[in-house]
Parts: sequence; structure tokens; C-alpha cells
Amino acid sequence: IKGSSFTREINQSVNMSDNTFKLIFACLWIIYILIRRPHVNAYNHSRNKRGKTTASELVVFVSLTLGMLILPLIWVMVPSNLYDLNLPVWLRLLGVVLAIFSLLYFYKIHQCLGQNWSPTLEINPTHKLITKGPYKRIRHPMYLQILLWVIAQALIISNLWASFSGLISWIVLFLIRVPKEEQMLIAHFGQEYKEYMKETNAIIPKMMK
Ligand code: SAH
Repeated sequence: IKGSSFTREINQSVNMSDNTFKLIFACLWIIYILIRRPHVNAYNHSRNKRGKTTASELVVFVSLTLGMLILPLIWVMVPSNLYDLNLPVWLRLLGVVLAIFSLLYFYKIHQCLGQNWSPTLEINPTHKLITKGPYKRIRHPMYLQILLWVIAQALIISNLWASFSGLISWIVLFLIRVPKEEQMLIAHFGQEYKEYMKETNAIIPKMMK
């Protein structure tokens, strides 16, 4: 009897910390949305003509929505220990720290990219090539930021499906979107973008020669 009440206590504390992480994860997502919101509003007000939604953009959108939002949301809402990865609390806390860092970085990138940001691939009439700040050494800081976010998500969530879904959707984003985006930017900026490519890497910062 003693043994079983001890196990129950342990189980209870595990559930409690799982619920705490669910709450923290939901709060982090609210901050994510609050950071993005003004930029979505500005985008909606400044454009009457949207970029066309191509099949590949749709694949990226559906994959990110499923992997970063729907599956994690199911994990938050459904009380279940099924497919729990049982990651240690310290590792899940490390995920929280990484997520906070990712959010600060996200804020900074949006400030720097300004009106040039768009949810789908497009060039606006006053588009300027940004090569400073977060864009100085890498061409895709926002995609690096999403990578940090999905790693953080995997650690915080500690559930097989909801943890790996984010990582898989990031791979889809990286493989499908980056080549198309660079093609589009080369077509528009020509030599200027090609020079910029020489000075930078895609997501691993290029160190000074
Ligand atoms: N790939 C970038 C930007 C993502 S937002 C990043 O990871 O930070 C997508 C839009 O940003 C695209 O429609 C593209 O037109 C624009 N964009 C990408 N790189 C840019 C740059 N260096 N300067 C200005 N706009 C850029």
C-alpha cells in the first residue's frame, strides 16, 4: 500500500509538471501571436494585391499549421500520457529558455524586415533588400528562428507526435520554400542579391574572412 501511494504521488507530480508545461507553452504561443499581429495588420492594410498562393506555398502553410499549431494544440487540450517521451524537467525548462530567446529574436527580425515581410512569397512595389541586423550574416533569420522554436517546442512538449511534427514541418519549409524564395529574390534584385549570397549563408552565420 505504501509503495502504491508513493507511485501515485510521483505520478501526480509528473502530471502537474506536464500541465504546467502546457500552460507555459500556451502563453508562449500567445506572445508569438502578439509579436506577429501588428505585422499581419500592416500587411493587410498595405496590399490590395496579394501574392498568388502556389501549390508549394500551400504545402508549406498546411505543414506548418499542422506541425507547429494543430498537433501541439491537441497535446495542450487532451489529457493523456500516450506517447510521452518522459524528457527530464531540466530539459523541458531548457526548451522554455530557448523559446523565450526565439521570441526575442522573432521580434528583432520583424522590426528589421519591416514592410518587406509577407506571409507568402512576394515582392512589393517598394521592396528593399535588407542586408543589415539579423540579415547581416544569414539570409533566412526568420527560418532559423522557426527552427529554434520547433526545437524548443519538441523539448517543452515531450510527446512523440507533437514534438517531432514541428521539426518535420520545418524541414518541409526549408526544402520547399528557401530555393523558391531565393529564385524570386534573384529574379528581382539580380546582381545585388547574388553579391549578398556571397557574403552570407542560408541559416548558419557566415563568419568574417
Ligand atoms: N526568408 C526570410 C524572410 C521570410 S518572410 C527570413 O527567413 O528571414 C518572406 C518574405 O521576405 C519574402 O516574400 C521575401 O520577399 C522577403 N525577403 C526575404 N529575404 C529578404 C531580404 N533580405 N530583404 C528583403 N526582403 C526579403
